[in-house]
Amino acid sequence: MFEIKSFFLFLLVLNFEINPLMEKVVLLIGGNLGDRQALLKEAVLELGKQFEILKLSGIYETAAWGGKSSGNYLNMAVLLSTDKSPMEVLNIGLEIENALGRKREVKWGDRTMDIDIIYFGEQVMQTERLKVPHPMMSNRRFVLVPLSEILPHFIHPQLKMSSQDLLEKCSDKSEVKRFASSLF
Ligand code: AMP
Repeated sequence: MFEIKSFFLFLLVLNFEINPLMEKVVLLIGGNLGDRQALLKEAVLELGKQFEILKLSGIYETAAWGGKSSGNYLNMAVLLSTDKSPMEVLNIGLEIENALGRKREVKWGDRTMDIDIIYFGEQVMQTERLKVPHPMMSNRRFVLVPLSEILPHFIHPQLKMSSQDLLEKCSDKSEVKRFASSLF
C-alpha cells in the first residue's frame, strides 16, 4: 500500500517538475506616481493570486525614461511560474495596472504601475499586442540590473547572451540605484 502511494506521489512530483505547460516568466514592474513602494507590494500581492512567484529582485530607483515623466521610478523584477498563455499573462498584467490606478494619457508618461513581460520562458513572439523577449530590454539598464540579480545566467533566446553580459554591453548609462533589498 505504502509503495503504491509513494509511486503516485512520485508521479505527481515528476509531473510538476517536467510539466511542459509550466513556463518561467520574468516581469519588470514599477511606477513613479503615488506611494511607489506600497504600489509595488500591492502588485506583487495581486500577481501572487494568479501565479506562483519564484523570486523577487530588490527594488531599484531609476530616473524617468523618454523625457515625458517627472519623478523617479521604483522598479523590480519578478520571476514566476505559470501554465497560462502569454496573452493571458499580458491581460492579467493590464488588469492589475488598471486596478492600481494606471491612466494611459501620454506614451512613456507618469504611471502608478507598469507591468512588462521581459521573458516568457525561451519563447519568441512578435504579435501586434505582444512582443517577447521585450524588444527594449537589452538597452535599458533599469531592466537589466534587476534581471541580472534574479537570473544572471539566463540566455536571451534571440541575442544569445546572458543577463550579465547584456548588462555589461549595455550602452544605456543611466543610474540605477538600489533602493531596498526586499519588498516585505
Ligand atoms: P506600456 O504599458 O505603455 O508599456 O505598453 C503597453 C502595451 O504594450 C500593452 O498594451 C501591450 O499590448 C504592448 N506590449 C507589447 N509587448 C509587450 C510586453 N512584452 N510586455 C508588456 N506589454 C507589451
